[in-house]
Amino acid sequence: EKPIDKAALIAKLRESAANEEQPLVEPDKIKEPVNIVFIGHVDSGKSTICGSILLLSGKVDQRIIETYEQEAKRLGRDSWWLAYIMDQTDEEREKGITVEVGKAFFETPTKRFSILDAPGHKAYVPNMIGGASQADYASLVISARISEFETGFDRGGQTREHAMLAKSLGISNLIVVINKMDDPSVNWSQDRFEQIKREMSPFLSEKCKYDLSQVHWIPISGISGANIIERVKPETAPWYNGPTLFEIFDSLPLPVRSAEAPLRIPILDRSKDQGIIIYGKVESGQVVKGQRVIVMPIRIKGEIVEIIGAEESRLMYANAGENVRIKLKVPEEVEIQRGFTICDIHDVCHAAQEFSADVQLLDLLEEKQVVSAGYQCVMHAHTAVEECEILEITALIDVARKKKSKTSFGRSNQRILMRVKAEEEICVEPFTKMNQLGRFTLRDEGKTVGLGKIIEIVEAAEEAP
Ligand code: GDP
Repeated sequence: EKPIDKAALIAKLRESAANEEQPLVEPDKIKEPVNIVFIGHVDSGKSTICGSILLLSGKVDQRIIETYEQEAKRLGRDSWWLAYIMDQTDEEREKGITVEVGKAFFETPTKRFSILDAPGHKAYVPNMIGGASQADYASLVISARISEFETGFDRGGQTREHAMLAKSLGISNLIVVINKMDDPSVNWSQDRFEQIKREMSPFLSEKCKYDLSQVHWIPISGISGANIIERVKPETAPWYNGPTLFEIFDSLPLPVRSAEAPLRIPILDRSKDQGIIIYGKVESGQVVKGQRVIVMPIRIKGEIVEIIGAEESRLMYANAGENVRIKLKVPEEVEIQRGFTICDIHDVCHAAQEFSADVQLLDLLEEKQVVSAGYQCVMHAHTAVEECEILEITALIDVARKKKSKTSFGRSNQRILMRVKAEEEICVEPFTKMNQLGRFTLRDEGKTVGLGKIIEIVEAAEEAP
């Protein structure tokens, strides 16, 4: 099969679009697609803020809002209705439509944001890690309410863990959203805002290694919407004259991407509707309508029949960062699964079971204090989930002294080198070649116990025909 010339294919699509009534469109070139994840301690206000963002940016229609308001009232939780916007109905869930495609989506003047692993959609990704591993930016939500900040940050809360995980997963642009400023215990106090900033800064820079010039701080009220799109009123917080949350979002540096890179779309979900429909984010490269592709690791060739982008736009092509729904024509009745990856025919990803990796262990389970050869857990790599087993632990890395020593086991919070084997082939790349496909997390009984980077693929299966 001849390599395809994507530029020629696009030129042809442009030509025919000129004569069509409902022509295909090109993805918005002014607004870049980017992905953001909201992290932070439970009840800090993530769902409320996401609901407010969608509401304020006009992404939710009035009828739906009313339904949510009523539903929240019915359940006796008046002020919670904003959070309901983030919750899907059963009907939508049955249809298999994922939040990544168009639902939790908003725009600023230069960017189109998808909210990954949006709160309220926890069924799709087991926790924030799945979302954060694909995000370009993270918003760390903090409750300013008296004692809530302290609980989340000091007393075993998730604030520290989430901030640290986001950095380990490659996020360097962090927006610390100090929420609930309207609460009577806070009352838009500048002192409270500064206190939280002062207490968190050393942790973010020294422990997590964020560059503080890439960390933004903003006081907001998720409930009233103050400082989200419109600046908080001067009479409410005369001391604040910084940017709004949307202004910060708009100013964040864009991720570096290239349309020339090999195509990779890890499949997040799929359904059947006159053919196979797959959902996913273009992690790398460019996909063009009409293009022939290969589905890994099953090595089935197919054709891209249709590409649907945000808000049901029919696209000629989609570049990295874009969340799409694709109609795929495959020759036979094939079983497409979550975690399979769509690739260029002549530049496929690795389909491997075994590889070596550099793994940062987190807190291990109480009852399993060490990991060593034979340790079994679950591996999450992009959208793939597989049982796996550690074959061998080869070294302990002393980060402070930049030294490696030989070992055969690892303990909580150590960094180790290991060989690991998944039960089935998964689509991966060495981290240095493509970090989106080179990262994984290890989970044991629902708890994340390690964050890994793939060093070398030991037993790369034979390349596609
Ligand atoms: P999540 O667990 O982080 O998604 O938090 P939720 O969005 O479910 O919010 C937890 C609680 O905090 C709910 O009772 C919200 O109504 C409340 N809350 C969220 N944002 C604000 C805010 O800006 N101000 C006040 N006063 N309460 C808020």
